Amino acid sequence: MTEAAAAAPSGTAAPLQAIEIKRRLGSLKFNTDSEEHAHITVKPAICEKCPHSFCTYACPAQCYNRINGKLVFRYEDCVECGTCAIACDQGSVTWNMPRGPYGVRYSYG
Ligand code: SF4
Ligand code: SF4
Repeated sequence: MTEAAAAAPSGTAAPLQAIEIKRRLGSLKFNTDSEEHAHITVKPAICEKCPHSFCTYACPAQCYNRINGKLVFRYEDCVECGTCAIACDQGSVTWNMPRGPYGVRYSYG
């Protein structure tokens, strides 16, 4: 029995535990292409002047981060949802489907 389940009053369901995103992504399989063929690229000069950094809030895989004021983008954990291409209204994101057989592989069950 988990600690959360043990702490729940009898007859009530245990509260759901939040699972860290990187752990959840660990169930996916990635076949990452080389940097020369990254399926998403950003333009640092545009990101430097970005007034909002919407991408850092919108990406479900946390591929975009502001570190010491600089935008750091990692395409390796991308789940190919396309959200960043919509969230970025500054024209920085170039998004393409990964070349076959590269990219994320989902499995169910
Ligand atoms: S929203 Fe676009 S311009 Fe702004 S930091 Fe993100 S990728 Fe760069
Ligand atoms: S396509 Fe989705 S997962 Fe990939 S970087 Fe953009 S927002 Fe993140």
